[in-house]
Amino acid sequence: MKENISQQVQRLIRPEIRALSAYHVPAAGALIKLDAMENPYPWPAALVDAWLERLRAASLNRYPDPAPRALKERLRSAMGAPQDAALLLGNGSDELIQMLALAVAGPGRVVLAPEPSFAMYRMIATATQMDYVGVPLTADFAIDLPAMLAAIEQHRPALLFLAYPNNPTGNLFDSSAVHALIEASPGLVILDEAYHVFARESFMSALGQYPNLLIMRTLSKMGLAGLRLGVLIGDPAWLDEIDKTRLPYNINVLTQLSADFALTHQQVLDAQAQSLCQDREWLLNELRAQQALTVYPSCANFILFRVPHGRATPIFEALKAAGVLIKNLHPAGGLLSECLRVTVGTRVENEAFLSALKKAL
Ligand SMILES: *Cc1c(COP(=O)(O)O)cnc(C)c1O
Repeated sequence: MKENISQQVQRLIRPEIRALSAYHVPAAGALIKLDAMENPYPWPAALVDAWLERLRAASLNRYPDPAPRALKERLRSAMGAPQDAALLLGNGSDELIQMLALAVAGPGRVVLAPEPSFAMYRMIATATQMDYVGVPLTADFAIDLPAMLAAIEQHRPALLFLAYPNNPTGNLFDSSAVHALIEASPGLVILDEAYHVFARESFMSALGQYPNLLIMRTLSKMGLAGLRLGVLIGDPAWLDEIDKTRLPYNINVLTQLSADFALTHQQVLDAQAQSLCQDREWLLNELRAQQALTVYPSCANFILFRVPHGRATPIFEALKAAGVLIKNLHPAGGLLSECLRVTVGTRVENEAFLSALKKAL
C-alpha cells in the first residue's frame, strides 16, 4: 500500500516540528492594528519622494552587496557601537537568533531565557534541535536571580537571551541582575535591545567588559518593520564564526538602500519615537485610572495589562468587534493568564482603543 501524504508527513517531518504551532499573525484587515509593536506613522511626503528617487538607482538585476561596509558604518554610528566591535546584519533580528543557534547547536546544547519572553527564542531552539529551558520571572516580571543562576549552573546554556526591555512584559530587568547573569554564564549572553529607541537604556558600553556579551538591535520597532533589518554587535572573534551560518545575500538591495536612506534622516524616526513615548505615558495613566485593570510599567512602545478573572478573551474579542486589534496573551497561560498587550499607536488610535476598552469593561 502506497503511503498517503499525511503518512509521509508523519514519517518525514521531525516530531518536534510537527508539535510546534506556526508563528501566528492574525489578519488585521481594516482593524486598527495595535498588536505588533509597529510604529503607526508614515514618513512625510517629501521624504517618501526623496526615498523613491534613491530607489531608482537600485540594480535589481545584481545580487546585493554581501558585506555592505558603508551601511554597517552608518549603523555603527546610529547605534553607538564601539569602533572595535563587529556588526553582523540579519533579515530582521529573528534571522540573527537563527544564525546564533545554527552556530552553536549540537546534542545537549541549551538555549536559556526567562519566561515569559520573546517567543522566537524557543521556536528557533526547537527548529535547530537545541534544548530550550525557560526560567519563570517573578510575579512582577522581574528576573528571579537565584532561579536563573541555578539554571545556568545546571544547564550551562550555550545561549542566554535577555530581552531588554522584555517583550511581552515591557519592563527593563534590574541591571545589576543582568550583570550577574553575564558574569555567571559559561556561554554567550545576547542582550536583545529591540526596544532601545523607547527605553534608551543599553548594555552596549559593557561590551568591552564581557567577552561573552553580544548586543542585538533592530530597525523594526523604530519604524522600519517592513525592511527586515537586525544587527548583532560584538567581538569579531564571535561574529566571524556566526557569519558563516548566514545565507550569502540575506539583506536585499532595496533594504540596504532604504535603511541607508532612513538612517540619514534618523531625526524623523527619533521624533516619532519620542512622541510615542509621550503617548505611552498618557495611555499608561488612562489605563491606570481603570479600577478593574492591573497595568504594568513599560519602557517600550507597548503596555501589558491584566483584566479580571475570565475576561481576557471576551475583552479581546469585544475590542476586535469594535475595530481594534490588540494581542491576547491569555492563551499562553502561566504568568500571562488574563493579560492583554496593546501597542502605542497614534493619538486617534489610542483613543479609539481606550473608548472600546471602557465599553468592554
Ligand atoms: C520584535 C522583536 C524582535 C524581532 O525583531 P525583527 O528585527 O523584526 O525580527 C526581536 N526581539 C524582541 C524582544 C522583539 O520584541
